[in-house]
Amino acid sequence: MDNNQRVIIHADLNSFFATAEQQTNPALRGKPVGVIKAPGRTCIIAASVEAKKFGVGTGSRVYDAKKLCPEIILVPANFSKYEKMTYRFIDICKTYSPACEVFSLDECFIDVTETEFIWPRPPRNASLEQLAWLEMGKALRGNAGGKNVFNIAFEIKDRLRREVGDYMTCSVGVSHNRFLAKLASSQIKPDGLFWITDDNKLEVLDRSKLTDVCGLGDGLYQHLTRVGIDSFPILRAKSITFLQEHFGPHWSLHLYNLARGIDDSGVGSILEIPDAKSVGRTYTTHRNLYRKEEVWRLTRNLCEETAAKARKMHLAGRYVGFCLRGGPARIATRQQLHSSGRVAGGEVSEWGHLTLKNYINDGKILFDLCLQISKNWNFFQQPFDFAQVFDSEVAQTRGGLRPYVRFCGVTLGMLTKSAYLPSPLFVSDSRRVDLIKTIDKVNGKYGDYTIYPGQLLGTSLIRPEVNGFFGDRKYRLDFASKN
Ligand SMILES: [Mg+2]
Repeated sequence: MDNNQRVIIHADLNSFFATAEQQTNPALRGKPVGVIKAPGRTCIIAASVEAKKFGVGTGSRVYDAKKLCPEIILVPANFSKYEKMTYRFIDICKTYSPACEVFSLDECFIDVTETEFIWPRPPRNASLEQLAWLEMGKALRGNAGGKNVFNIAFEIKDRLRREVGDYMTCSVGVSHNRFLAKLASSQIKPDGLFWITDDNKLEVLDRSKLTDVCGLGDGLYQHLTRVGIDSFPILRAKSITFLQEHFGPHWSLHLYNLARGIDDSGVGSILEIPDAKSVGRTYTTHRNLYRKEEVWRLTRNLCEETAAKARKMHLAGRYVGFCLRGGPARIATRQQLHSSGRVAGGEVSEWGHLTLKNYINDGKILFDLCLQISKNWNFFQQPFDFAQVFDSEVAQTRGGLRPYVRFCGVTLGMLTKSAYLPSPLFVSDSRRVDLIKTIDKVNGKYGDYTIYPGQLLGTSLIRPEVNGFFGDRKYRLDFASKN
């Protein structure tokens, strides 16, 4: 099929986190609301439609937001609430085509080229305004392509209100490729509908800022301005040779196409990808571990593997489980050893878990949470500190309990697609995300643990098992991680 005849919808929930709060707490409706990560945090991660009118937006600092809008109401984020809403939103979107790609927590692409004929009628509750739109759409569209995409667009809006919440709205963009469909949905907010065709695409592009479009990050924008390009018309005027010279073979083509509204990428599929519920790793040591550092190294090692598994599947979790098994066994005194030579005592295990508000897939964070879970465990509250005492001759001869660890287990559960998660808000966070991405890339190419945390230096690394999880590549298929 000619690419220009594809029919792509981009549905984007308006001010998602903030509207979700207004949905569940009607007292917030019609008021400027700023969602923050947790009480006391200084950065606004989502602003309501009303707050945006004052100039408050994602990434605004609370201090600045209060200056712009003193009556702003700050609400701590509730990611599990948003996640449930996201799933219901996706359930709606995916009914219109198997080619439905979740792009982020509040955005889906739906390729309805092959399926729009199934929706020949407007939704039952269509308003007069919507019906007028539909008539106009038909007239404008003539005989080219289908005529039903706007029926679907209005049905999505209607079902969103009925099935997710009566206060929820989305903007819908329609066009013949992903890039233009996304640009279309950004034209009218909230509750908008916009259609980009070959006739109006350049006009819409030319009134957009370069930074408004997806796939054109800050670094690339800086580079563009350095060579005198700061708008779409200027970008379009540059030859491919000029672009190749300054941006290399990949980006030059990308930029050339962006300027002309060309995008041949397909819409992925959401179907038949089972969700892993949890990932984890357990390990039984070959010898007893007596030193705290040894136990923590083992734990860190397993945390790194667990987190890497989650990342490989483009998943992140908010349930952390941690288990240690081992002594304390009763150590005989020297005198008893002389007489019996036996060590008596039973094994004990300790386990605990934490449920977090946000999703993680970073091994270091996972490790820190395991430390937190285990901070009051008996293993580490023995009559003497084994790091210092047990290695000494005194301890060996003193008798009493000698704690050790010989089994460790780490679990990351309540997994969700990391593509659903918001991008990191802070520079330090996004640097960390970039660092992990790079490490994953290197380890993917040269083998697991080519790069690993310094904490594991000098130990024999525990590696993923051959037939374990890493053989399972099907998760890679459709969920390109946004992070
Ligand atoms: Mg949105």
